[in-house]
Amino acid sequence: ATPTALLVGTGRGAQLGILIKGPQVLESTRTVDTVVLDKTGTVTTGEMSVVDVVPVDGVTDAQLLRLAGALENASEHPIARAVVAGARDRCGELPAVADFTSETGVGVRGTVDGHEVIVGRASLLGSWAADLPPEVAAAKATADAAGRTSVMVGWDGAVRGILVVSDRVKPTSRAAVAQFKRLGLHPILLTGDNAAVAAAIAAEVGIDDVVADVLPAGKVDLVKRLQVDGKVVAMVGDGVNDAAALAQADLGIAMGTGSDVAIESGDLTVVRGDLRVVADAIRLSRRTLGTIK
Ligand code: ADP
Ligand code: MG
Repeated sequence: ATPTALLVGTGRGAQLGILIKGPQVLESTRTVDTVVLDKTGTVTTGEMSVVDVVPVDGVTDAQLLRLAGALENASEHPIARAVVAGARDRCGELPAVADFTSETGVGVRGTVDGHEVIVGRASLLGSWAADLPPEVAAAKATADAAGRTSVMVGWDGAVRGILVVSDRVKPTSRAAVAQFKRLGLHPILLTGDNAAVAAAIAAEVGIDDVVADVLPAGKVDLVKRLQVDGKVVAMVGDGVNDAAALAQADLGIAMGTGSDVAIESGDLTVVRGDLRVVADAIRLSRRTLGTIK
């Protein structure tokens, strides 16, 4: 392989909207056989909005949004941005949060207006969520069935309600998945979201293999397990919680709409966040290296 030919490849890449870290990246791009796709921000737009607010008896929509929004104000997660926007719409200025902590891929906790508040997966609320109020359980079941993400909100020892957020599959994702399959690549949808939501999104884009309810460390483990099985793995993510998995993959692909973390950990960066460009990059690298052998 002559360096010049490889650089032509990287130059073409830039035209397509891909930033390639170095010519050596093209070799792993060429040999990839499995593409692991993070859900939020990769297959979906990650531009979420709150579509349903369900408080328990005795709590108002505004109270639920105000405490959840104040807490989420300290988080960068797409869900957090949606909750903050919804809360500001409804409540205006939000109170300050103290003692904020975030558990990546699980949720957030902190003190707002003197209340200990938690927003996230039921597991983060622990015993508070042991007996879900019936209206919350019903709202969660409805959201799951519709393929919509929901998060529990609790304070001072009890679940106080649930927020449902909507995300949209990117209009380009289904075509991208079809292209991966045509290239002989096996696509897998990976997410920290629950299995019902994951299955709905997977069906919408044509992915048959889904791994859901995964914590950030589990994302790295999945990539490792595939590699132990002899797979050459491309991992595509937005980096909010998958930077380690991007680094573990044979080819880490960062969606350009994501965080700087992802862009740094990626071998390839897809500038405009269009998944079809990943398929283009794989085709390009096969062709480039094919001609210089
Ligand atoms: P994905 O794998 O689809 O990118 P994440 O791993 O980022 O999803 O998040 C997994 C789940 O963790 C979310 O569906 C949500 O339940 C919970 N979660 C993560 N961060 C937050 C947050 N800031 N606020 C509320 N819930 C959160
Ligand atoms: Mg993510």
